[in-house]
Amino acid sequence: MRHGLNTREGLAGSSSSIRRLIPATLIKEYFFCPRIPYIVMNSSHVQEEFHFMERGKEVERDLAKKAIEKLNAQIIAEKIEGTHEELGIYGVIDYVIRKENALHVLELKNTSYKETFLGHRFQAVAYVLIARRCGYPVRSAIIYYGESETIVEILPTWENIRTLLSVINAINRFLKVGMPRIKSSRCGVCSYRHICLEI
Ligand code: SF4
Repeated sequence: MRHGLNTREGLAGSSSSIRRLIPATLIKEYFFCPRIPYIVMNSSHVQEEFHFMERGKEVERDLAKKAIEKLNAQIIAEKIEGTHEELGIYGVIDYVIRKENALHVLELKNTSYKETFLGHRFQAVAYVLIARRCGYPVRSAIIYYGESETIVEILPTWENIRTLLSVINAINRFLKVGMPRIKSSRCGVCSYRHICLEI
């Protein structure tokens, strides 16, 4: 089953309002193009992304082993599916690990580290908040970039949480009022380009 890209109904916000929960994966995608969450939440044609994610899973065990060794940490839990209903998000957390008496979310990325990966930062903040809701008092998220063997720690500072909230609000606004196609240089390499033309 594909995690993170299936839409589902849930209670979010006040107890009287019902709206769809947003998969945390879409926070990352939003930074690539703000139209992607609108496309995914309104389309069942997400096969390209599915295959990409499935291929990613094949290398995940190996990546996790390398990350755990490098961090000198222990795995506490893995593949935790959780929600944060007030924020209106859900997601599957790769791992919760213990390192030097503190718990952290461990997020694996089979890419090289680039400082411009803002999407990774705010997806990680979302996972920290979801993990805490699931009963894991994590201090931060640690992202392991497999290709460059780089470790980046993301703290859930107020500034990071504020930005995450503004992204979630923007996604919800676009889901309500629509989000037109943006012609950009990224369209040529976008995994959603074919679906984008249909919606
Ligand atoms: S094809 Fe272009 S406008 Fe459409 S989702 Fe991708 S980047 Fe955004």
